[in-house]
Amino acid sequence: MKAEKEISVLLSDTLDLINSPLAPAATMLVYHRIEDGGASMLPDSVTLTEFQEQMRYITDEGYSPMTVRELAALVEAGEEPPEKSIVVTFDDGYLDTYTHAFPELDFFRMPATVFLAAGHIGASTPFPWLGSDGGKPMDWQQVGRLQKAGIEIASHTYSHPFTPNLTQKELCLELERSKRTIEEKLGSPVHSLALPYSFPLRHPRWPSFKARLKEALHASGYVCCCTMQRGHIGPRDDVFALRRIPVGRDDDLRLFRAKLEGCFAWTAPLQALYQRFLKSYPTP
Ligand SMILES: [Zn+2]
Repeated sequence: MKAEKEISVLLSDTLDLINSPLAPAATMLVYHRIEDGGASMLPDSVTLTEFQEQMRYITDEGYSPMTVRELAALVEAGEEPPEKSIVVTFDDGYLDTYTHAFPELDFFRMPATVFLAAGHIGASTPFPWLGSDGGKPMDWQQVGRLQKAGIEIASHTYSHPFTPNLTQKELCLELERSKRTIEEKLGSPVHSLALPYSFPLRHPRWPSFKARLKEALHASGYVCCCTMQRGHIGPRDDVFALRRIPVGRDDDLRLFRAKLEGCFAWTAPLQALYQRFLKSYPTP
């Protein structure tokens, strides 16, 4: 949104001017598609050129990149993450995570975490929730190459459902099946999950979801869970409800910088209000 962008950039410029940075403990970024650009770009897509600039910015400004697993271990231990901690994450498992993002991650030696909707990996058709223009998934060979390069491969459920609508049995099955599939294909353990879709863990329509989710995560052997709820991460946060900062097509370098400096997290209460009172959700 334009107003969100302008206020965030203004806040960042002002704090810079008075030399009073917000310095959030740690920032977890969430990317979806990395595209070549063009009119059909989705709001949460980033062009390859922008992505290159963003990775260069993180490197040049002395950020400490790590994986979700590494950050969650610090949070779990109640330890303060290093100054300027940052985690680059990708949701779904698009082919362009391999063709476009991976060469840049490799070039900048940037750790990252890729969350796979495991049941769709290797399919020849685009991910179904985006329609016919949606991006195609990677295959397991490509996922294996990411893993060999040190990228954390993690779970984004098996079929990418709207999880609050699932029964406890279905929820456990989604989490377990995805974890088991990735582990069997790659031969190494999966620790982290990212929930599909943007929704609050607490909502009158699914009052017990947060407790049910924790139970399912424990039962399936996950050690942490990321959401699409906006915000940064500190040492006392809940590792099963980690907040992230979205990156999208409207992010020029000024907004990207503002997001890293903690000047976008003010939109989190607005997101919560929208999700609570205005947003419509799929019916069970
Ligand atoms: Zn997703």
